[in-house]
Amino acid sequence: MNEIVLKGIPAAPGIAMGPAYIVNKQEMVVPARAIMEKEVPIEIARFEEALIKTREQIAGIRKKISEQMGGQDAQIFDAHLLVLEDRMLIEEVSKRIQREKQSAEYIFSNVFKRYAEAFKNIQDDYLKERTADLKDIARRVLRNLIDEDRLSEIDQFKEEFILIAHDLSPSDTASMVGRNVLGFVTDIGGRTSHTAIMAKSLGIPAVVGLKDATMRISNQDEMIVDGRMGLVIIRPEEKTREIYRKEKGRIFASRGRFADIKDLPAETLDKRTITLATNLELPGEIPLIKRQGPVGIGLFRTEYFYMNRVDLPSEEEQLETYQRVVRSMAPHPVTIRTLDLGGDKFISSLQVPRDMVPFLGWRAIKFCLARPDIFKTQIRAILKASAHGKIKMMYPMISGVSEMRQANAILEEVKMQLREEKIAFDENIQVGAMIEVPSAAVTADSLAQESDFFSIGTNDLIQYALAVGRVNEQTASFYEPFHPSILRLIKMAVDAGYQAHIPVSLCGEMASEPVSALLLLGMGIDELSMTPLNVLQIKKLIRSVRFTDAQKLAQEALSLSTGQDVEELCKAKLQELAPAVLKSGD
Ligand code: PEP
Ligand code: MG
Repeated sequence: MNEIVLKGIPAAPGIAMGPAYIVNKQEMVVPARAIMEKEVPIEIARFEEALIKTREQIAGIRKKISEQMGGQDAQIFDAHLLVLEDRMLIEEVSKRIQREKQSAEYIFSNVFKRYAEAFKNIQDDYLKERTADLKDIARRVLRNLIDEDRLSEIDQFKEEFILIAHDLSPSDTASMVGRNVLGFVTDIGGRTSHTAIMAKSLGIPAVVGLKDATMRISNQDEMIVDGRMGLVIIRPEEKTREIYRKEKGRIFASRGRFADIKDLPAETLDKRTITLATNLELPGEIPLIKRQGPVGIGLFRTEYFYMNRVDLPSEEEQLETYQRVVRSMAPHPVTIRTLDLGGDKFISSLQVPRDMVPFLGWRAIKFCLARPDIFKTQIRAILKASAHGKIKMMYPMISGVSEMRQANAILEEVKMQLREEKIAFDENIQVGAMIEVPSAAVTADSLAQESDFFSIGTNDLIQYALAVGRVNEQTASFYEPFHPSILRLIKMAVDAGYQAHIPVSLCGEMASEPVSALLLLGMGIDELSMTPLNVLQIKKLIRSVRFTDAQKLAQEALSLSTGQDVEELCKAKLQELAPAVLKSGD
């Protein structure tokens, strides 16, 4: 078979070569989760409730089918219902929860697997075919026990592979840490979707938005993923492989190409200094961050901490993590963003239905203000950790002054409690607003009065300003970071920060791309925060140009009327001012 080249959206740079492994969400493997003695009755009750719920669901389907198609077709569901009432199954699961002290879903999935195996070995063809029905029931019960996002079959896979999926949630992607994943390929998704951000921070090449890759790729197909160009090559010919092998070698050789400036400041030729910082998704990235020279953390996305678990992290647990991060980053500051639930960042442990937290709606700060219990626990942990190092805190998705005030009022309450309890924290902790909703940018002058700093989140700002989803591959070409409206919104925030003498950072993906970073430098941004692997390249850029040239570029860009014109201008300017930066291997 000839090689096939698919073009998607480049999401994380680098080249991966290896066999394909298609994740099929239909096959669920449940990771083990140990429970304590006192949780045994809770787990058994959860299991029984899930069975009841599943029975109700199946009875509902049975009724519908028999109304529409007659009793004959509905009979299959009677068999399903019988399985769910099987005393032996129920007793075995309950006993094993008690004995093995593992979660209901883990025990149930193991017991059920044995049932399914036994069915497969039956000589009767009819019964053999019923294995699929059994699996279907298991899936239903599991879905009632656990959020589907946390069920992964990857646990079984030992070889290195390129993961192919219709979609990957950020929690799926996070669960790939430490596994043998060489690359990610998905049918849906956009450049700034959290899956893409996660892949970048894991240093795993990714191409998203391929529309029908899962239909064209078969398991074990040899593949090449070119994360720079957004190409996926299925069953590559030898000459293609050779080209990519060489390319990989070149990238590898150029990895350390900016190492000589690692310890130098991010200072322009005419002496304007920018603070460079990194975004942190998972504490495991800290060793990589530390290899990028003296940088702090400009955005600690705490959502991932809440993912892939059934409960919420306690104050102690959060404190332990924040402290660990802050201690290992010392003397550099760590900016912790409070929980940003919603959109494509979904957290199963909150027991909040997914459709309640869409991109537009009850997400991020709005969710936290409505759930002060969750919010206060996190703030307490952040404040306590602030006694152990330099911590800044910021709220996501602030839309204006009243939300900022409400959040700060809760913060004050927590501070008061800590004072009463005589618990140390940094009384001068700086608290900032993320500027990622257009209304916040437009009212940035008033917001600046309530904030110690701003951090512009362009990933969201772009989608809300242009009405183009950040995870939607169909509209990827309309998601324009260089659109004049985005430039103006950024400028409003920068000017307001300047007027109020508060620093303005930018932590969206625009900070990590040389073409946009040059423009942002000229617009007067004080800090750029990005994925660790881009830090040295952006530092090289800053050290190669004059601030006054970047300012001229920004001025000219702000006078243009289309995103395309702005982008072309910035590209040309970058080529002219800092060609060395562009000779990148990836
Ligand atoms: C942003 O929106 O630009 C941002 C940095 O936040 P996140 O990507 O986590 O939504
Ligand atoms: Mg955001």
